[in-house]
Parts: sequence; structure tokens; C-alpha cells
Amino acid sequence: MSKVDTILYLDGVSVSFDGFRAINNLSLVLAKGEMRAIIGPNGAGKTTMMDIITGKTRPDAGEVFFNGTIDLTQHDEADIAMMGIGRKFQKPTVFESHTVEDNLVLALAGPRSIFPALFHKKTKPEAERIDEILATIRLEKRRYDHAANLSHGQKQWLEIGMLLAQDPKLLLVDEPVAGMTDAETEETARLLRDISKTHSVVVVEHDMHFVRELDVRVTCLHEGSVLSEGTLDHVSADQRVIEVYLGR
Ligand code: ADP
Repeated sequence: MSKVDTILYLDGVSVSFDGFRAINNLSLVLAKGEMRAIIGPNGAGKTTMMDIITGKTRPDAGEVFFNGTIDLTQHDEADIAMMGIGRKFQKPTVFESHTVEDNLVLALAGPRSIFPALFHKKTKPEAERIDEILATIRLEKRRYDHAANLSHGQKQWLEIGMLLAQDPKLLLVDEPVAGMTDAETEETARLLRDISKTHSVVVVEHDMHFVRELDVRVTCLHEGSVLSEGTLDHVSADQRVIEVYLGR
């Protein structure tokens, strides 16, 4: 695949903390429109990789390109968020005292315009976009409920909706189903499959049942490098992956 066809292109990336190599010659290529699941045991480097992509951590070596041509190592975290990389951390962070709809209004408006956003009348395109997002995250019926009253799973979906409102080209989602019920986990897989029809997505996840439901290419990290890559069946049958997970 040519670099211009990629949404994310990491090549030979390394980063050390106090002499310890957390990321070691890591290469990862994501095609435009692709959804990828990243797995790997604790300490494999998954969080550090996300930190590098979002500009929170600067690599010591290697290339990190977004959307084919943008060298992310030349930009800071705020710039990168504005360029269209949305990150969702494990814990949901919604505005609990606002309604579901207002959470989306605030996300559409962006960080600098909270008060004007809540008090101005929504334009038609804004109202349509909110309808669309509510349909995607299946929270139409909870539109006027306070976010505090949503279940844990629903808060996670609302936060994914808030990311969508910012119109990202690439979504980074960290362990979205931690703490969810089985039904919520299945619903989250459906939601991410829907989103992946129009967005590129990287999902870090431990729950293999969920990864199977996503039905995407899987990359297993270990000691800061790619250990195995392919379908979940391929990766989970890889002897090196079995050894790392089971310590054999
Ligand atoms: P994962 O998300 O896969 O569990 P991390 O990316 O959090 O892995 O961590 C990879 C390795 O780097 C771990 O050994 C961790 O202790 C180390 N590490 C991560 N961030 C720092 C830091 N800021 N300072 C020192 N060591 C770190």
C-alpha cells in the first residue's frame, strides 16, 4: 500500500523512558477507512503507541504520518486533535449535569464556546447532525435525559457520539467495553462496525469476545513491537502470541 492511501503510517518508531524501550521499532499501517483492533498483554506498549499518535509523547526515532502526508512528529497534541484524530479514553467523561442532546451540542461547538453553544438556537445542519449521531449511538429515546442517569454503557456510547460530533477522520478508542454487560458489549461492537463504514478506527481491547464481534484485522503488540498481525483466528493461533499470553 502506498503511503498516500494510509490514514496512519508508523515506521520504525521507538521511544524510551529512562532508558527503558517502551516502543521498539514499531511499524503499523492502517488503510484509509480501516478499523483495526490492537491487543497485547499489559505493558506491551498500547497506551504509549496511542500517546505517540496523539502527540502526547514524542518518539525518539521513526516516522508517524497521518492521512498519508501529515508528519505528526512535527505537531503538538492540540494541533493533532484539531486535524481530526479523536481519542476516547477508557473512562467515560461526559457532562453529567447536562442532557444527552446538550452533551452533543457542546461537542459540536468545540471546547471554546460552551456558553454560546448552550444558549443559541441550533442551526438546521446542527440539529440534523445531532439527530444523525443520536441514531448512530441509539440514544434517541434518552435525548432529554441527564447524562448522569445513563448506564455505564450508554455513557460510553454518548462519549463516542461526542467524538463523532467533532468530525474526526481517525478515532482512537481505548478499551471501550471494560465494565460493560454482555449485551452492552455486543451493542458497542455493532456501533463501532457502523462507525467504521465512514471512519478509520483503532480500538485497543482486551476482551477477545468483543474483538471477535468487531470482525477486523488484529495487531498484537509485545514489548513495544508487533508480535503478530492478521485475522483474530490467525493471531490467536500464533504460537508466539500463545506464549506471551499464557507464559508458556
Ligand atoms: P500497555 O498500554 O500495553 O499496557 P503501556 O504503553 O502503558 O502498555 O506501557 C509500556 C511500557 O512502558 C510499560 O513497561 C510501562 O511501564 C512503560 N511506561 C509507559 N509510560 C511510561 C512513563 N511515562 N515512564 C516510564 N515508563 C513508562
